[in-house]
This record gives sequence, structure tokens and C-alpha cells, in this order.
Amino acid sequence: MTADALYRKNFEQENNRSLLSGINATSMVDTPITIPVVIHILYNSDEQNVSDEEIQSQIDVLNEDFAANNASSLDVPLDWINLITDSKIRFKLAQRDPAGNNSSGVIRVSSAISEYPIFDPAIYSSLLGGSDAWPRSKYLNIWVCRLEGNALGYANFPGSSANQDGVVINYKAFGRNGIAKAPYNFGRTCTHEIGHWLILSHIWGDDNNDCSASDFPITLQAIDDTPNQEGPTFRCQRFPELDNCSATSPGIMYMNFMDYTDDKCMMFFTPGQIFRMRTTMNGIRDSLKISNGHVLPNLYNSDIAIDSVLNPVRIAAKLCLDPVVRIQNNGSATVSAFSILYGLQAGLQKTFQWTGTLLPGASTQVTLPTIGVNAGSQVMEFRIIGSDDVLVNNYISAGFKVNNASTSNCSGGNLFAYPNPVTSQQGICIKSQNKQSQLSWVRVYNALGQLTSEKRMMVNPGDGIPIDLTDFRGGVYFINVEGDLYSESVRFIYIPGENPTAGPENCN
Ligand SMILES: [Zn+2]
Repeated sequence: MTADALYRKNFEQENNRSLLSGINATSMVDTPITIPVVIHILYNSDEQNVSDEEIQSQIDVLNEDFAANNASSLDVPLDWINLITDSKIRFKLAQRDPAGNNSSGVIRVSSAISEYPIFDPAIYSSLLGGSDAWPRSKYLNIWVCRLEGNALGYANFPGSSANQDGVVINYKAFGRNGIAKAPYNFGRTCTHEIGHWLILSHIWGDDNNDCSASDFPITLQAIDDTPNQEGPTFRCQRFPELDNCSATSPGIMYMNFMDYTDDKCMMFFTPGQIFRMRTTMNGIRDSLKISNGHVLPNLYNSDIAIDSVLNPVRIAAKLCLDPVVRIQNNGSATVSAFSILYGLQAGLQKTFQWTGTLLPGASTQVTLPTIGVNAGSQVMEFRIIGSDDVLVNNYISAGFKVNNASTSNCSGGNLFAYPNPVTSQQGICIKSQNKQSQLSWVRVYNALGQLTSEKRMMVNPGDGIPIDLTDFRGGVYFINVEGDLYSESVRFIYIPGENPTAGPENCN
């Protein structure tokens, strides 16, 4: 972003803020709010009994989306990038149940009901095969189950009955791990439904596919910053998308979280929508702001947690990055060792061993060894392995986008080249220590980034692979191994020797 664009963004945000403050000064106070969340899993099969990691991935999506740290917000059209705003609303799994006891924030109910109609009272009743709501004054209730007719989810608006207050999400559209099914596999159903739970309407105003109604009430027309829209948008669209209500560019805001666009094409809430959500938090849902539902009442002995991901957040500039996570000792015992397993979702896994002294209540930032990533939208995952009484807080995921692909040096990664420097045109060897075999493009680039050779092959863990250097000139080169699971690069120097035919006969 240029300085001018940044100035413009700040200016417009100030403008929005002063406009809004004229209506309700207290609502726009930027105090961060953390909402304790309880997840009710109603399952009739193993598949429906979604994992703790799947649940955490949904919490991660909510926190990215409500912070405007989601990678897809990078694709918001220029006309609207000034509207991208952090709502300062966050979500955390409950650690305290209504009675004041320790809790994982996850309730699992094995149910005889294989699928529920939407608004089925059974969902909200442990007597009828569901799970009772926790008090809405202290928790956001999210029920996850199979919904009839493949409905994705629904919400109850503020003011609905207390025992049904919350959102219900189809397990197939929940989280961004393996169980979620495309195109609803980026956790956006839950973002959208929580928008409703915090009073937002659909972006098209639910006016039966005409232009008669706005998604903002008449009293808030002054802050309506969403274009009038005829009806819902499906799939992904190309900007600008026009309709009868917004017939000229920039057209309709189909990438808003309150439309029906596919998960991967949903991008943001506007400041006007955020104002409305925060007004709800400062009004009818006010008590959630002082809830201690996410505060652990009684410490466990061993309780290491991944608190947050500091890198990557939203964007990574290079194909090589050094992830940074904050590790928190929530237990009463001092932690002296743990390991972190990390890598791209469904892809490469690396392990890092940490040793040191982490006192009870203390946290530490851990910078992990360099890892190679693929260009495009990615999810990086982190798991703590160690002696631990609480497993639910041992996983976190981070969505981000690599938009500046380059053949950067990833020599700190899992790909090695030897001997290095190499003197023989007969070749250099590479070896991957990634845990999976990968059908790969093995490409060699010179220092100018020009492709010098390429080969399609299976790269197995630990196999030495010779790369022929016949016709290469002396200089610096990069070898990139790329496939569906990982992309890694390694740098080497070729210094043609006096005896060019004598080189490594094999790559063991
Ligand atoms: Zn909706």
C-alpha cells in the first residue's frame, strides 16, 4: 500500500468514525471484546463427531474474519478496501462451565437422531437428543450437527428465546479442516451466522429479490455503507457484478460475509455492519463483555497452550517463512520441554524441539525453523506435543496468502543439496526430508530466476536425487521442488572443476 493510499484509508476510517459517533458515541469505542464460546457437537456417526482440531480451526476462522486478518480480504476490490475494518470482536473456547468448573468448551452428545430439521427443538434439548444451551448471558452457543436437506446453518437473532439463542451449523460446513466439504470448507457459514446472531441482515435486505428494502433499518440509513442488492449471490463472481439495484460499477458487494457467495470468495464486513454488531454487544448482549466463561477456574498441573500465531498472519511475502507462535504455560508446573509439529494443512510436517524454562502463567514467542510454502492461499497448522493434561488448546491454524512467489533460498528448510559447492558437471544431489512422498516438478533456476532445467518425478523422503549439470555455467543456482504437498527451494553454487567428469556417482 502506498503512503497515499494509507493516508486515504486512515482519513476515511476517521470520517466513518466521526459519522458514527454522531449516532451513538459509546458504541464505537474500540475496546476489544472476547466472547466465550461453547460448542455442542451432536453426532450420530464418527464423521459427525468433529475433532477438537476442527473446532479450533473454526474459532481461528472467526478470529481472522472478525479481525479483518483473513487472507481473502486481500482480494477486496480497490473501491472498497477503505472499508476493511477490525471489529475488535474475538472468540475463545469456554474454559469454565456455568457451574464454575473447568471445561474444554466442547460438549459431545451421541444422539439417535441422524439429521435434524432446521429449528428442530430437539437440537436445544438434552431430553430430546440434543444439548441444552449454556446461559446466553455468558456464552455464545454453537450447535454442530447434521442438518436436513444439507442446510448449511442458521442463527437466532438477538431477542430470541433463551434456550435457543445461538447458531446451528451443519457439521459439513464447520471449520476448515478435512471434514468440511467444498465449497463451504473455509468456516464462513459460522462467520455469516454469527453476523445474524449480532443482528446483521442479509446484504440484499431480504426483500424478495427487488430493491425495496435495505439491509440497514430506516433509523440507520446514515451509516448504510452496503450497496442496494436485488437478491443473494451464489458461487464466486468477478468484480464488478451488477444487478437491477446497483446497475453501475462498483455494483453489488457480493464478497460481503452476509451474502451467499462460496466460502473462499467471502471477504469482509463493512464499518456500518461492524457498528451494528458492536451496538448489539453494547446493548442486548452486553453481559457477554464481562463474562469470565473463557477464564480457567482451577489450573491443571501440565497445561501448555498455543495462544496465537504471530507469523504468518494474512499474508506472506515469500515462499520461505519462519513461523512464529506464542506458547502459554497455563498450568501450575514449570514447563521445560515440548515439541511443536507444524506445516501446511494436509502437507509437510516439521518438528521443533523447545527446551528452556517457562514458568506458570508465562508465555514465550517461539520462532520456528524456516519452512517452504506454496504460492496462493494456504493454511498453516501448529500442534504442541508434550506431557499435557489439556489437549483442546494444543492446536491452532492460520490462513494466509503468498502473493509474491519467488524462488527464494529455503536452505533452512527440509531440502538439502550436496556437495555444495559442487565442482562436477555430472551433477549435484538433493535430498528431501519432508515426511511425505510427493510427485514433484524439480526445477533449477539461475541467479536471475531463469529456468535452466526441469523434470517431473516422485520425490521420496530421504532419497538422494542426482541433478545433471551438463551445459551449466558456473554460478549460483536454486533448485525448487514443487507439488501438491509442499514447495521448497535450496541454493547451491557450481564452480566447474579441473576434472569435470569426476563427480558424485550416486547420491547416497
Ligand atoms: Zn443468512
